[in-house]
Amino acid sequence: MTHQQPHNKVPVNSAAILVINCGSSSVKFSLINPVNGETLLSGLAECLLSSDASITIKKNNTKDTLKLAAPFDHQTALSILVTQLQQLDLVKDIATVGHRVVHGGEKYAQPTLITDEVEQAIDQLAKLAPLHNPANLIGIKACQQAFPDLPQVAVFDTAFHQTMPEKSYVYGLPYSLYQEHGIRRYGFHGTSHYFVAKQAAKQLNKPLEQCNLISAHLGNGCSVTVIKNGESVDTSMGMTPGEGVMMGTRCGDLDSGIIFYLVDNLGYSINDIDKLVNKESGLLGISGLSNDCRTLEDAMLADNNAQAKLAMTVFCYRIAKSIASYSASLTQLDGLIFTGGIGENSTWVRTEIVKLLGLLNFSLDEEKNQATRFGASGNIADKKSRACWVIATNEEWVIAEQSAVLLRNSMQ
Ligand code: ADP
Repeated sequence: MTHQQPHNKVPVNSAAILVINCGSSSVKFSLINPVNGETLLSGLAECLLSSDASITIKKNNTKDTLKLAAPFDHQTALSILVTQLQQLDLVKDIATVGHRVVHGGEKYAQPTLITDEVEQAIDQLAKLAPLHNPANLIGIKACQQAFPDLPQVAVFDTAFHQTMPEKSYVYGLPYSLYQEHGIRRYGFHGTSHYFVAKQAAKQLNKPLEQCNLISAHLGNGCSVTVIKNGESVDTSMGMTPGEGVMMGTRCGDLDSGIIFYLVDNLGYSINDIDKLVNKESGLLGISGLSNDCRTLEDAMLADNNAQAKLAMTVFCYRIAKSIASYSASLTQLDGLIFTGGIGENSTWVRTEIVKLLGLLNFSLDEEKNQATRFGASGNIADKKSRACWVIATNEEWVIAEQSAVLLRNSMQ
């Protein structure tokens, strides 16, 4: 079966894009107006395939959570969504389904209409993203069943970083590993870095192509990207999301000698190391308490917890060092952007990072810093500083917008 040209059947008045972000045990979905980013319906199915599986659907100001008697899978979650969309008479409004796909390798620098060939490529790229691409494919297949007449579009998390020059993406390993096996740096969170850079360009009142920015996406996963003349020229994550700054449960950059030490002296297996560096390290590993920034802030500020303070201090220091390192990539800098759950909300983290960036002429207006949280966006720098924006990210809107543009172009 090929899905190359199903868009012939798309209703002409269709205006909304269904955005799907499928993880190994979750499906996030939203129905979005691609022009103004308005969310018509959104929700999350989580703990799929376990007895805690549930699905929450938000519409206007209502929020319904449904738990079934037995564990359910992605397919069932999507069929519950379809029933809901049918009941609300929204199916006829959907023009296309836009999927977040984590790894597009070197092949996909642009959003792509999903064909059998594209599905095969996403499957092959699962070697580079074993936790993500297979889950993304499950979502694509389930949506093809649920919406057989609608085109499906893949928007890749790596795409924005495909403009990186060779000096940024080549590892200091034998070059043949890149040539023969694709072992290079790809970068992630591309959709988010692109969205916030576009918003910063609006603030600067100039085209994105003329903007030079550093963007820090700080959520459970964290990455820092440097944008030169509107294009990503370097980013902290690498072949996988494990590289770069320290994160909630990932350690980030690590001396490879530690791995040999753990194997040779402490009996670690490859699986143990995978779990250690991806699930047990970072904020959680140092604090021994939590990977959640809110919990650690409470612990250090209210309870004087020294390990929580150390974890947060290392976290901020490593992010500040990563930001400062990008002075090697730019000759001009318009400003710094904070985004992601921590970047958008933690005044403590922003203060701590910016305190370390005095040499780059950054300093904060603490009142503005305190006032810019919980979805608010704005410049929190003081008068003598370069711009420093907090910008609430909206990856779903980018996926909707890019899917709509691709669909329109493919119909011309
Ligand atoms: P993901 O990468 O999974 O999308 P998010 O971008 O939602 O994650 O970020 C989750 C992180 O944001 C968590 O560490 C959480 O503690 C932090 N966070 C959310 N709200 C706040 C807040 N009000 N203050 C500090 N940290 C916050």
